[in-house]
Amino acid sequence: MKRVISLVLVAVLACSFVLGLTACGGSSDSKTAEVKELHMATNAAFEPYEYYKGKKIVGIDAEIADAICKKLGYKLVIDDMDFDAIITAVTSGKADFGMAGMTVTDERKKSVDFTDSYTTTTQVIIVNEKDSKVKNADDLEKATIGVQRGTTGDVYVSDLKEAKIERFNTGPDAVLALTQGKVDAVVIDGQPAKAFVAKNKGTKILDDPFAEEEYAICLKKDSDLTKDFNKALAELKKDGTIDKINSKYIKE
Ligand code: GLN
Repeated sequence: MKRVISLVLVAVLACSFVLGLTACGGSSDSKTAEVKELHMATNAAFEPYEYYKGKKIVGIDAEIADAICKKLGYKLVIDDMDFDAIITAVTSGKADFGMAGMTVTDERKKSVDFTDSYTTTTQVIIVNEKDSKVKNADDLEKATIGVQRGTTGDVYVSDLKEAKIERFNTGPDAVLALTQGKVDAVVIDGQPAKAFVAKNKGTKILDDPFAEEEYAICLKKDSDLTKDFNKALAELKKDGTIDKINSKYIKE
Protein backbone atom coordinates (compact mmCIF):
# COMPACT_ATOMS: atom_id res chain seq x y z
CA MET A 1 0.00 0.00 0.00
CA LYS A 2 2.77 2.42 1.01
CA ARG A 3 4.52 1.59 -2.18
CA VAL A 4 1.49 2.38 -4.26
CA ILE A 5 1.06 5.70 -2.49
CA SER A 6 4.68 6.66 -2.99
CA LEU A 7 4.49 5.67 -6.66
CA VAL A 8 1.45 7.88 -7.06
CA LEU A 9 3.26 10.66 -5.24
CA VAL A 10 6.26 10.35 -7.50
CA ALA A 11 3.98 10.43 -10.51
CA VAL A 12 2.15 13.50 -9.22
CA LEU A 13 5.42 15.24 -8.40
CA ALA A 14 6.87 14.39 -11.78
CA CYS A 15 3.74 15.67 -13.46
CA SER A 16 3.68 18.93 -11.59
CA PHE A 17 7.39 19.36 -12.24
CA VAL A 18 6.80 18.95 -15.98
CA LEU A 19 3.71 21.15 -15.89
CA GLY A 20 5.53 23.73 -13.82
CA LEU A 21 8.36 23.82 -16.26
CA THR A 22 6.02 24.21 -19.19
CA ALA A 23 4.10 26.95 -17.46
CA CYS A 24 7.34 28.64 -16.48
CA GLY A 25 8.70 28.27 -19.99
CA GLY A 26 5.49 29.74 -21.34
CA SER A 27 5.48 32.80 -19.19
CA SER A 28 9.15 33.58 -19.57
CA ASP A 29 8.70 33.17 -23.34
CA SER A 30 6.00 35.76 -23.48
CA LYS A 31 8.15 38.12 -21.45
CA THR A 32 11.12 37.85 -23.75
CA ALA A 33 9.45 37.02 -27.06
CA GLU A 34 9.18 39.88 -29.54
CA VAL A 35 5.92 40.53 -31.32
CA LYS A 36 5.97 38.42 -34.46
CA GLU A 37 6.73 40.33 -37.64
CA LEU A 38 4.94 40.12 -40.94
CA HIS A 39 6.93 41.13 -44.00
CA MET A 40 5.11 42.99 -46.76
CA ALA A 41 6.68 42.97 -50.22
CA THR A 42 6.03 46.15 -52.17
CA ASN A 43 7.43 48.57 -54.73
CA ALA A 44 7.55 51.93 -52.99
CA ALA A 45 7.42 54.16 -56.07
CA PHE A 46 3.67 54.21 -56.39
CA GLU A 47 2.18 57.25 -54.73
CA PRO A 48 -0.42 57.38 -53.15
CA TYR A 49 -0.29 53.62 -52.37
CA GLU A 50 3.35 53.22 -51.31
CA TYR A 51 6.11 55.78 -51.53
CA TYR A 52 8.92 57.28 -49.50
CA LYS A 53 8.43 60.21 -47.21
CA GLY A 54 12.01 60.76 -46.08
CA LYS A 55 13.21 57.29 -45.15
CA LYS A 56 9.76 55.97 -44.27
CA ILE A 57 7.43 54.16 -46.65
CA VAL A 58 3.96 55.68 -46.36
CA GLY A 59 0.73 55.50 -48.37
CA ILE A 60 -2.65 53.84 -48.51
CA ASP A 61 -1.29 50.28 -48.72
CA ALA A 62 1.25 50.91 -45.96
CA GLU A 63 -1.48 52.19 -43.65
CA ILE A 64 -4.03 49.48 -44.46
CA ALA A 65 -1.32 46.83 -43.95
CA ASP A 66 -0.38 48.40 -40.64
CA ALA A 67 -4.01 48.44 -39.49
CA ILE A 68 -4.42 44.77 -40.45
CA CYS A 69 -1.21 43.76 -38.67
CA LYS A 70 -2.19 45.69 -35.53
CA LYS A 71 -5.57 43.95 -35.50
CA LEU A 72 -3.93 40.54 -35.85
CA GLY A 73 -1.17 41.27 -33.31
CA TYR A 74 1.78 41.44 -35.70
CA LYS A 75 4.46 44.05 -36.30
CA LEU A 76 4.56 45.21 -39.93
CA VAL A 77 7.88 45.28 -41.78
CA ILE A 78 7.86 46.67 -45.33
CA ASP A 79 10.36 45.30 -47.87
CA ASP A 80 10.86 47.49 -50.96
CA MET A 81 11.69 45.69 -54.22
CA ASP A 82 10.94 45.79 -57.97
CA PHE A 83 7.26 45.19 -58.69
CA ASP A 84 7.98 42.06 -60.69
CA ALA A 85 9.84 40.51 -57.72
CA ILE A 86 6.89 40.71 -55.33
CA ILE A 87 5.05 37.52 -56.25
CA THR A 88 8.24 35.45 -56.11
CA ALA A 89 9.02 36.96 -52.70
CA VAL A 90 5.61 35.77 -51.52
CA THR A 91 5.67 32.30 -53.09
CA SER A 92 9.19 31.66 -51.79
CA GLY A 93 8.19 32.73 -48.27
CA LYS A 94 10.69 35.61 -48.22
CA ALA A 95 7.71 37.88 -47.61
CA ASP A 96 4.46 37.00 -45.83
CA PHE A 97 2.29 39.02 -48.20
CA GLY A 98 2.47 41.37 -51.16
CA MET A 99 0.65 44.69 -51.28
CA ALA A 100 1.50 47.14 -54.03
CA GLY A 101 -1.60 48.49 -55.71
CA MET A 102 -1.62 44.96 -57.03
CA THR A 103 -4.39 44.04 -59.45
CA VAL A 104 -6.14 40.71 -59.08
CA THR A 105 -5.58 38.70 -62.26
CA ASP A 106 -6.25 35.08 -63.21
CA GLU A 107 -2.63 34.70 -64.23
CA ARG A 108 -1.39 35.78 -60.77
CA LYS A 109 -3.98 33.58 -59.10
CA LYS A 110 -2.10 30.60 -60.52
CA SER A 111 0.78 31.36 -58.13
CA VAL A 112 -0.75 33.26 -55.19
CA ASP A 113 -4.04 33.70 -53.35
CA PHE A 114 -5.66 37.12 -53.13
CA THR A 115 -7.66 38.59 -50.27
CA ASP A 116 -10.96 40.29 -50.96
CA SER A 117 -10.47 43.47 -52.92
CA TYR A 118 -9.96 46.79 -51.10
CA THR A 119 -10.04 49.18 -54.10
CA THR A 120 -11.56 49.43 -57.55
CA THR A 121 -9.48 51.50 -59.93
CA THR A 122 -8.51 52.09 -63.56
CA GLN A 123 -5.56 51.99 -65.90
CA VAL A 124 -5.05 55.28 -67.70
CA ILE A 125 -2.91 56.72 -70.47
CA ILE A 126 -0.46 59.56 -69.74
CA VAL A 127 0.79 61.64 -72.67
CA ASN A 128 2.65 64.90 -73.24
CA GLU A 129 0.26 67.85 -73.42
CA LYS A 130 1.87 69.22 -76.58
CA ASP A 131 1.72 67.50 -79.95
CA SER A 132 1.06 64.01 -78.65
CA LYS A 133 0.52 61.45 -81.38
CA VAL A 134 -1.55 59.45 -78.88
CA LYS A 135 -4.97 61.09 -78.44
CA ASN A 136 -6.95 57.99 -77.44
CA ALA A 137 -6.51 54.30 -76.73
CA ASP A 138 -6.69 53.38 -80.46
CA ASP A 139 -3.62 55.52 -81.15
CA LEU A 140 -1.57 53.28 -78.86
CA GLU A 141 -1.46 50.70 -81.67
CA LYS A 142 1.23 52.62 -83.52
CA ALA A 143 3.01 54.24 -80.60
CA THR A 144 6.00 53.60 -78.39
CA ILE A 145 4.51 52.91 -74.97
CA GLY A 146 6.23 53.06 -71.60
CA VAL A 147 5.08 50.72 -68.84
CA GLN A 148 6.29 49.42 -65.52
CA ARG A 149 7.69 45.93 -66.02
CA GLY A 150 5.38 43.07 -65.00
CA THR A 151 2.32 45.23 -64.32
CA THR A 152 -1.13 44.85 -65.81
CA GLY A 153 -0.35 47.95 -67.91
CA ASP A 154 2.52 45.93 -69.38
CA VAL A 155 0.21 42.96 -70.02
CA TYR A 156 -2.47 45.08 -71.76
CA VAL A 157 -0.15 46.86 -74.15
CA SER A 158 1.80 43.70 -74.88
CA ASP A 159 -1.34 42.53 -76.71
CA LEU A 160 -1.02 45.40 -79.19
CA LYS A 161 0.60 43.91 -82.27
CA GLU A 162 2.20 47.00 -83.76
CA ALA A 163 3.08 49.01 -80.68
CA LYS A 164 6.64 49.20 -79.41
CA ILE A 165 6.88 48.61 -75.66
CA GLU A 166 9.55 50.08 -73.39
CA ARG A 167 9.59 48.48 -69.94
CA PHE A 168 10.84 50.35 -66.86
CA ASN A 169 11.49 49.32 -63.24
CA THR A 170 9.20 51.98 -61.80
CA GLY A 171 6.34 54.21 -62.86
CA PRO A 172 8.37 57.40 -62.33
CA ASP A 173 11.06 56.02 -64.69
CA ALA A 174 8.42 55.46 -67.39
CA VAL A 175 7.01 58.98 -66.95
CA LEU A 176 10.51 60.45 -67.07
CA ALA A 177 11.02 58.74 -70.45
CA LEU A 178 7.75 60.33 -71.62
CA THR A 179 8.90 63.83 -70.63
CA GLN A 180 12.16 63.17 -72.48
CA GLY A 181 10.26 62.18 -75.61
CA LYS A 182 11.59 58.60 -75.50
CA VAL A 183 8.08 57.13 -75.39
CA ASP A 184 4.75 58.51 -76.72
CA ALA A 185 2.56 57.41 -73.84
CA VAL A 186 2.62 55.64 -70.48
CA VAL A 187 -0.08 53.16 -69.44
CA ILE A 188 -0.36 52.99 -65.67
CA ASP A 189 -2.78 52.96 -62.72
CA GLY A 190 -5.07 55.98 -62.33
CA GLN A 191 -4.12 57.33 -58.90
CA PRO A 192 -0.34 57.04 -59.30
CA ALA A 193 -0.80 58.63 -62.75
CA LYS A 194 -2.30 61.69 -61.06
CA ALA A 195 0.64 61.90 -58.69
CA PHE A 196 3.13 61.53 -61.58
CA VAL A 197 1.37 64.16 -63.73
CA ALA A 198 1.27 66.59 -60.80
CA LYS A 199 5.05 66.28 -60.57
CA ASN A 200 5.77 66.46 -64.30
CA LYS A 201 4.68 69.69 -65.96
CA GLY A 202 3.56 69.27 -69.55
CA THR A 203 2.03 65.81 -69.07
CA LYS A 204 -1.65 64.92 -68.82
CA ILE A 205 -3.98 61.95 -68.43
CA LEU A 206 -6.30 61.12 -71.32
CA ASP A 207 -9.98 61.21 -70.39
CA ASP A 208 -10.89 57.64 -71.29
CA PRO A 209 -9.78 55.11 -68.74
CA PHE A 210 -8.10 52.16 -70.36
CA ALA A 211 -9.30 49.31 -68.13
CA GLU A 212 -10.96 48.74 -64.78
CA GLU A 213 -9.25 46.70 -62.06
CA GLU A 214 -9.44 45.55 -58.45
CA TYR A 215 -6.58 45.78 -55.95
CA ALA A 216 -6.05 43.09 -53.32
CA ILE A 217 -3.34 41.68 -51.09
CA CYS A 218 -1.56 38.53 -52.27
CA LEU A 219 -0.46 35.71 -50.00
CA LYS A 220 1.15 32.32 -50.38
CA LYS A 221 -1.33 29.76 -51.70
CA ASP A 222 -3.46 28.19 -48.95
CA SER A 223 -1.88 30.39 -46.28
CA ASP A 224 -3.75 30.40 -42.96
CA LEU A 225 -3.23 34.15 -42.92
CA THR A 226 -5.60 34.81 -45.83
CA LYS A 227 -8.69 34.14 -43.72
CA ASP A 228 -7.40 36.41 -40.92
CA PHE A 229 -6.55 39.15 -43.43
CA ASN A 230 -10.04 38.99 -44.94
CA LYS A 231 -11.63 39.20 -41.53
CA ALA A 232 -9.48 42.21 -40.58
CA LEU A 233 -10.13 43.86 -43.96
CA ALA A 234 -13.89 43.43 -43.55
CA GLU A 235 -13.77 45.02 -40.11
CA LEU A 236 -11.65 47.91 -41.37
CA LYS A 237 -14.07 48.48 -44.25
CA LYS A 238 -17.04 48.36 -41.91
CA ASP A 239 -15.69 50.74 -39.27
CA GLY A 240 -14.68 53.32 -41.89
CA THR A 241 -10.89 52.93 -41.47
CA ILE A 242 -10.28 52.10 -45.15
CA ASP A 243 -12.34 55.12 -46.28
CA LYS A 244 -10.47 57.33 -43.86
CA ILE A 245 -7.07 56.14 -45.12
CA ASN A 246 -8.16 56.59 -48.76
CA SER A 247 -9.39 60.13 -48.22
CA LYS A 248 -6.22 61.04 -46.35
CA TYR A 249 -4.19 60.28 -49.49
CA ILE A 250 -6.71 60.93 -52.29
CA LYS A 251 -8.15 64.41 -52.26
CA GLU A 252 -11.14 64.65 -54.57
N1 GLN B 1 -1.96 47.57 -60.64
C1 GLN B 1 -0.85 47.24 -61.45
C2 GLN B 1 -0.56 45.77 -61.35
O1 GLN B 1 -0.97 45.13 -60.43
C3 GLN B 1 0.39 48.05 -61.13
C4 GLN B 1 0.88 47.91 -59.73
C5 GLN B 1 2.18 48.64 -59.47
O2 GLN B 1 2.86 49.08 -60.35
N2 GLN B 1 2.57 48.76 -58.23
O3 GLN B 1 0.07 45.22 -62.19
